[in-house]
Amino acid sequence: MAEFIVLGAGMVGVSTALALQASGHQVTIVDKRDAGLETSYGNAGMIQVEAAEPYALPRDIATLCKYAFEISNDVTWKMSGALQMAPALWSYFRHSAAEKHAKISRIHSQLTFRSTADHDPLIHASGSEHLIDHCGLVMLHRDKRVFEKAVRKAEFLMAEYGVTSNIYDGKSYLHKEPALKKAPAGAVHYTQSWSCSSPGDLTKAYCDLFVKQGGRLVSGDASTLQHTVSGWQILTSDGELKAEQVVVALGPWSPELLKRFGYHIPMVYKRGYHGHFNAPNTLQRPFLDVANGVLAAPMVKGLRVTTGAALVPFDSAIDTKQLKRGAKALNEIIDLGEQVVEPQWVGTRPCMPDMLPLVGEAPNHKGLWFHFGHGHQGFTLGPTTARLLIRAMEGESNELLRALSPTQRLSS
Ligand SMILES: Cc1cc2nc3c(=O)[nH]c(=O)nc-3n(C[C@H](O)[C@H](O)[C@H](O)COP(=O)(O)OP(=O)(O)OC[C@H]3O[C@@H](n4cnc5c(N)ncnc54)[C@H](O)[C@@H]3O)c2cc1C
Repeated sequence: MAEFIVLGAGMVGVSTALALQASGHQVTIVDKRDAGLETSYGNAGMIQVEAAEPYALPRDIATLCKYAFEISNDVTWKMSGALQMAPALWSYFRHSAAEKHAKISRIHSQLTFRSTADHDPLIHASGSEHLIDHCGLVMLHRDKRVFEKAVRKAEFLMAEYGVTSNIYDGKSYLHKEPALKKAPAGAVHYTQSWSCSSPGDLTKAYCDLFVKQGGRLVSGDASTLQHTVSGWQILTSDGELKAEQVVVALGPWSPELLKRFGYHIPMVYKRGYHGHFNAPNTLQRPFLDVANGVLAAPMVKGLRVTTGAALVPFDSAIDTKQLKRGAKALNEIIDLGEQVVEPQWVGTRPCMPDMLPLVGEAPNHKGLWFHFGHGHQGFTLGPTTARLLIRAMEGESNELLRALSPTQRLSS
């Protein structure tokens, strides 16, 4: 048994703590806030088996021009953000080449494929069944040609990774989803994905389970972490805390902390927003309005609308234009109702340029473990990569673990 500090109480940190605890270790989570209040709070709540292939940066000129001139709503950007992230974006562009992306997807699909099975025991043990719906995720298409392409993609995902889907023409999907005002061009229903009606509450429920089983969550600032002769120490509200090992699971805040230890982690920060609406008709299942890059999901607080990516500096001011445009477009096909008045949530997807999370020991420090960079799928993958992290800690080495290892990737 060893003593561990886990920095960060998002889905990734809490899953790490539970996996370490299950392996018999003594674990304390340190966070500035309570569990599940940041990125793991405001996301779209999808546990995404269908996301076998991580989001690549499009490389065709037409799409890049659409992004550059913000003609499409799924990506917006600011010059300051693009300049700040230029090296990471360049690396992301290179990794998005077809051959490299296919290789990365073979790794990523092994993670997403296990995601529901790895969440399942935690959902039951934490008594969170009421938050989960096994209803899948729909890609709703307004354009016939784009829909036809999406059908071919769905067939490919089935053949390559075993991702199951049902295809509907517009009229038959209108029957399945009575909340729609009119028939779309078509819909692809990915059936294995699950949705959560309150991602923050699920993260908190996992954390409560960890505490009930003897773990501790204490308040503290990760920036006070020190490397000592015997291990690691950090200042917390309970005083100075020492441990032999520390796991960095600070999501998008991880690179900033690690600069102090000499690591320059390239990260693409993809900001997103959400808003809740009192939609009069409940959706049967979440859907992505592909043409407008917004996802609509029924949640505890109302119908949650989440946006695509804004490539802006990490700390730039809130700008809800993407959310407003997305909501306006959604209103054409469903009745959104009034927007719920609440403080504006903003979150950042912590994306690695090679589209895989960093899972494993830091290249130059013993007892320092990286577990972050889950990008668009951290809520999905927390429990899965936590299990893999434990296997890396136990000294296992295989193709999957090597592909996720910081040592392999930060030096190449
Ligand atoms: C709009 C949007 C929609 C998304 N939809 C989905 C989805 O449907 N499915 C999916 O799988 N993923 C989705 N994601 C991605 C997912 O939300 C993230 O990948 C995931 O939440 C990252 O989890 P995390 O635990 O790494 O980070 P976080 O949840 O951000 O946790 C990091 C923790 O670190 C703490 N922290 C930060 N700095 C310090 C400090 N100095 N000291 C102490 N503590 C600190 C924070 O308080 C926080 O609790 C979405 C993201 C966005 C933005």
